[in-house]
Amino acid sequence: MKDLRPALEQARAGHLYRQRRVLDSPQGPRLVVDGRPMLSFSSNDYLGLAADERVARAFRQGLEHWGSGSGAAHLVTGHSRAHHALEEELADFTGRERALLFSSGYLANLAVITSLCGRGDTVIQDRLDHASLIDGARLSGAALKRYAHNDMAAAEKRLAAANGEILLAVDGVFSMDGDLAELPALAALCREHEAWLMVDDAHGLGVLGEKGGGSLAHFGLDADQVPVLMGTLGKAFGTAGAFVAGSADLIETLIQKARSYIFTTALPAALAEATRASLKILREEDWRRGHLQDLVARFRQGAGELGFALPPSATPIQPLIAGEARTALEWSRALEEQGVLVTAIRPPTVPEGSARLRITFSAAHSEADVDELLRALEVLAS
Ligand SMILES: *Cc1c(COP(=O)(O)O)cnc(C)c1O
Repeated sequence: MKDLRPALEQARAGHLYRQRRVLDSPQGPRLVVDGRPMLSFSSNDYLGLAADERVARAFRQGLEHWGSGSGAAHLVTGHSRAHHALEEELADFTGRERALLFSSGYLANLAVITSLCGRGDTVIQDRLDHASLIDGARLSGAALKRYAHNDMAAAEKRLAAANGEILLAVDGVFSMDGDLAELPALAALCREHEAWLMVDDAHGLGVLGEKGGGSLAHFGLDADQVPVLMGTLGKAFGTAGAFVAGSADLIETLIQKARSYIFTTALPAALAEATRASLKILREEDWRRGHLQDLVARFRQGAGELGFALPPSATPIQPLIAGEARTALEWSRALEEQGVLVTAIRPPTVPEGSARLRITFSAAHSEADVDELLRALEVLAS
């Protein structure tokens, strides 16, 4: 048994130590964090649905009807009518034959990659893909080949050199940078090389495109061009869990083969009822997306005036690159002193030398909240 302390001390010395904060309030712009009121720009609750009263009501009603626990995995007795209805509604929302619920996005990504690929096959990914996609590729036993961020020539090279079954998996919106994958180009390349294209749209669904259809709706891509779509329910949907949408054959394959589907307890049915309510709001309330875009534009304008060089992001994810982990932490602390919460994101979550503040906006923010953030940022600009 090795002494665990030295590695912990080393992380601390390198400004890479991670600590949790304790919340005493629901998710939202105004939080009570470690006992202190804060204005937060650090959640993925993009549409402000995590504490929506209608979603909560559906959750409570679901709880009355279904009880608290699903009691079993989906293939045993955990798959309720509520789960089933949500799957049908998600299939309709995404314009696909079927959708399949998972307990988390992490598990959904493991499921897809390990079910479609194995030894002798090739998984191709953008360098900035989410950790769960990387872990899925590793677990599958397929060769993992990564290409420089959004470099289509590099992606094509990987496709041309690939063996066996080929799966190209990519974030629709990159989680730490907020920029979009070049999905039309990737779709064309995958077609040419007879490769599966899988889009993880954790940060696009609900936020981008008409009716919140996400990155694919933004680019006008259909199910033929992107056969595998993964979405998470813990971000814009404001609940928890995830789904994969695709052809009936794809979904049946996942049900038969995916160990991260088969060997885990179904989410509570009440949560499925809550998510059905949030899906309805997400599709109908366009004003949330419009307001979000206004907030982002206001922030970018103001931050530009303060002299910050913002990377090109048109999404609610707005990074301020600090470089060193220590600088990102100092920035975060300087904001915290002014009652503004923006978490520092450090390696290995982002590449070495690109530590940052990851500012995220929510439809629950007001323009005054953005102005308060900008005032707090003045300290860093000077
Ligand atoms: C959050 C996230 C996931 C994981 O989803 P969870 O439901 O939180 O497990 C997967 N992919 C991306 C791009 C994400 O941002």
